[in-house]
Amino acid sequence: MKRKIGWRWGGALLVLGAIWSATAASLMAQAAENSIKSEKTEAAKIRVLVFDGGHPYDEPEFAEMLTALGDEFEFSRATLPQDRALLAPGLEKKFDALLFYDMCQTPMSDEEFARYETLLKSGKIGVFFLHHRLSAHPERPDFWKIAGGTYVFEQNREIEGKRRPLGAYEHDREIDVKPARIDGEPPFPLEAFTIIDESYENMWVSPNVKALLTTDAPRMTPQVAWTWTLGDAEVLVFALGHDKKAYENPAFRRFLKNGLNWLVENVKK
Ligand SMILES: [Zn+2]
Repeated sequence: MKRKIGWRWGGALLVLGAIWSATAASLMAQAAENSIKSEKTEAAKIRVLVFDGGHPYDEPEFAEMLTALGDEFEFSRATLPQDRALLAPGLEKKFDALLFYDMCQTPMSDEEFARYETLLKSGKIGVFFLHHRLSAHPERPDFWKIAGGTYVFEQNREIEGKRRPLGAYEHDREIDVKPARIDGEPPFPLEAFTIIDESYENMWVSPNVKALLTTDAPRMTPQVAWTWTLGDAEVLVFALGHDKKAYENPAFRRFLKNGLNWLVENVKK
């Protein structure tokens, strides 16, 4: 079914109704045009391309939350797998950061994966993996290397030489989250908070991630947010964010906003 409702946006730069059903090519053209306009009229905005697809979510509330993050951001939307061609070197010229909120499980060809990996590893564009993204591409046993962790879809899946228990999830839990113990300064301000959200249990998380937020909640993977070195990039991963109950949490919003700003400050253009 064709989707009719577009996201609502605070700024006038992007017409989301047009982007909603845009092809990858027209999306790129639109973004290029908008970036020219914005250079002429105002201070450069942080251009974030959001990927969805493969999992339903509270779309209007998600868009409202992004808009509420502030005028400094300009969000565009693409959907996987149909807009997969965007995931290639060159996208960093159009966008400052990518926010993956998809759960795309349509297999990628080796060529597509190579282009995708080259883009993400370049360090020239911020990379943020949010919630469902940790369940993307179970067909690629080493897809966890992209984010430093993964939801485990099959009992006894072998990761890093060990068999892992099957993942589990639970909706509408009250979850207490706190900043992880970090050597030195955190990359951006972190706070303790309580959120109504979905928990993931038995996620596999690399011992090499730098945890940012953790939880002691039972039946839940302790690492809630982390950074992970991927080639020349330091990607950001946040396991929370299932639905509008999470989106409306002010601390959840602050993490997204601070995280996106941090990613963009770190990109090497
Ligand atoms: Zn979810």
